[in-house]
Amino acid sequence: MDDGFKEALKRRVASEERFSAFIDGAAFYIALERPCARCGDFRKRTRDRSCYRCHLNRGGENFERMKAGIAPVAKRSKEGHLDLLERKRREREGEHLERSFGNLVAKRWPTGRLEVTFPDGYNQADMAQLQQWELLNAMEEFPLLADVLTWAGWTLPYRG
Ligand SMILES: [Zn+2]
Repeated sequence: MDDGFKEALKRRVASEERFSAFIDGAAFYIALERPCARCGDFRKRTRDRSCYRCHLNRGGENFERMKAGIAPVAKRSKEGHLDLLERKRREREGEHLERSFGNLVAKRWPTGRLEVTFPDGYNQADMAQLQQWELLNAMEEFPLLADVLTWAGWTLPYRG
């Protein structure tokens, strides 16, 4: 790559770290001065400067969706769409699996939604809506939640 082009490119890729990562073909670069507002990670995706960990987590969500038999959001085909409609219909009709884990009552719905009722009566209609830290705190308070998640086919979260 000639220096003139490199300089022109550098002006377009404002951040020095991003530029280096871009040139090296790296998936992410470190931006210590701009931690992610959502998860606090310092890594940014080279391609679009979005948060790298949030990007990985989204991949994780898609993996959970695949395991639940639902196509990843971006790749949902017409067939997958019809399948989802069918699952939604079954869910509306009340079809679900229910199991108790100690004082926790868990329900798995056809769309892949995992509902948990806690001992104090609190009902979390969709566990996937919880932030990672909320889920981790809940698991600390209710260790059996790990069994619930395993039963639902989730990969267990870890403190990273
Ligand atoms: Zn993030």
